[in-house]
Amino acid sequence: MTIAVQGYATHSPTDELAPFTFERRDPRPQDVVIDILYCGICHSDIHFARNEWGWTQYPFVPGHEIVGRVAAVGKEVSKYKAGDLVGVGCLVDSCRHCTSCSDGLEQYCENGFTGTYGGEDKIGGTPHKMTFGGYSDKITVDERFVLRIPNNLDLAAAAPLLCAGITTYSPLRHWKVGPGQKVGVIGLGGLGHMGVKFAHAMGAHVVMITTSPKKGEDARKLGADEVLLSKDAAAMEAAQNSFDFLLNTIPVGHDVDPYMALLKRDATMVIVGAVEPLTNVSGIPLIFQRRSMAGSLIGGLPETQEMLDFCGEHNITCDIETITIKDVNAAYDRTVKGDVKYRFVIDMASLKA
Ligand code: NAP
Ligand code: ZN
Ligand code: ZN
Repeated sequence: MTIAVQGYATHSPTDELAPFTFERRDPRPQDVVIDILYCGICHSDIHFARNEWGWTQYPFVPGHEIVGRVAAVGKEVSKYKAGDLVGVGCLVDSCRHCTSCSDGLEQYCENGFTGTYGGEDKIGGTPHKMTFGGYSDKITVDERFVLRIPNNLDLAAAAPLLCAGITTYSPLRHWKVGPGQKVGVIGLGGLGHMGVKFAHAMGAHVVMITTSPKKGEDARKLGADEVLLSKDAAAMEAAQNSFDFLLNTIPVGHDVDPYMALLKRDATMVIVGAVEPLTNVSGIPLIFQRRSMAGSLIGGLPETQEMLDFCGEHNITCDIETITIKDVNAAYDRTVKGDVKYRFVIDMASLKA
């Protein structure tokens, strides 16, 4: 027995997303079955759907910013019961015994984590060899990979916390961003707008670094103290050697040196966006001020729960545009053009319409 699921999938890099039915495994004793209420559209969904990273297998069902209500639980599940509001992010499985998994850093699992979509389904129980994501009405997930959503948060606006939220929260925490620091967030999109909110909530002086002059006013409303236009060479030069930390969310390969030059001695720029080769990465900005460039991948389960609880305490959610599933293809094009404030979220009730 499996669970029949309705969703949206694409079948090639150039096909549009369209209705698709598939199967989820029948719940094991440790599984939670979730009725999906909302799912955010991450830029990674688009990279994947269009095979921009070269490793997509089709059919492909995107979606890893999932919020829903527990429909049923297996008999060994202790943390959740039917009716609970829960989330699922980018991970649905990992080896659970390597050093990273033991440290609660499942995203760095040494034996390879299972992504919520496009991952090899090691648990099985369906005819599909791959995992299928949250653009669908139901998902079955091991309780270890399920998160609790604080009751006070708007559910649709909480969905993007599961990826955009944790991807920006984790490096800000790891590099100990806080009061007295000048922090730059590069790129005002889904990730960037959450980076600004979190850095502000953590007490830093926040600078939005953007290519888009018209986003300046919004950035201030989100919590930025200053706006720096990256295309303004004079302003970029004047800001050199002044930042304690940079969070770089640019979604494509780009010249790195102009950003590295903004850092103070010993400061770090963390790349979370670009997977492609970075260009103009010269040794000079690194060597002369002992600066660092680093990367960061989403966050592990314990830190994702910590981030959600932090959002509950500080009343932080995402700025979203809610859409119906039939508008998903148009939403992809608008996201690529930077025409969204600042995350699309699909109301999954529209799947039944
Ligand atoms: P998004 O909503 O499209 O935002 C990206 C922003 O970057 C844009 O709004 C734009 O902001 C800026 N930008 C776009 N193209 C640029 C260019 N060529 N040069 C400079 N700036 C540019 O994307 P997102 O959902 O935030 O995702 C950002 C990236 O992070 C994607 O590549 C995604 O796959 C990746 N990601 C990584 C992780 C991880 O774990 N590391 C997790 C989730 C997503 P301005 O208009 O302000 O310049
Ligand atoms: Zn994502
Ligand atoms: Zn592991």
